[in-house]
Amino acid sequence: MGIVKIPLDIEAALLADRIAADEIAETVARCERTRAKTFDPESGAYTGYKESGAITLWVCYKTFCGGAELLDYYFNRTNILGVSEPAADPDMELGPLLTPIRDKKPLCCKCDRPLEIRKALFSYMKRKYYAMAFACPSCGQVYESKEIVRYRAEKVEPLLEGK
Ligand SMILES: [Zn+2]
Repeated sequence: MGIVKIPLDIEAALLADRIAADEIAETVARCERTRAKTFDPESGAYTGYKESGAITLWVCYKTFCGGAELLDYYFNRTNILGVSEPAADPDMELGPLLTPIRDKKPLCCKCDRPLEIRKALFSYMKRKYYAMAFACPSCGQVYESKEIVRYRAEKVEPLLEGK
């Protein structure tokens, strides 16, 4: 992996969130090295994540010859433990957070397969819970949008803390 370009406005946001540019570069490099990332055919962007301690850091980026450019990032304190099984009804109606992902039809870069709605196991602090998520039916790579990651941080995590 070559250089990871970070636009100025995103750099300022990273500073405010106390996330080091190195952390972003490492996350992108890991996604590239392992191909544990998803591709949005509409925008041409890749999305993947890296867990460091309790933080799950997501990066959204485009690649060019010799490097990548960061388009967005987001994070929460929910870890992804795994994908258990297909949803009972894969054509089920999805909520407002998941429907846009179905419309985008993201692909798993490792397996070149479209993601499907699956039941995934998450953990926050020491509490585990299942939730629907888009994931690769072969390797289990999960895709979560910024809206979903924020939702977990703002609504689910406080609930699990009993707040
Ligand atoms: Zn896969």
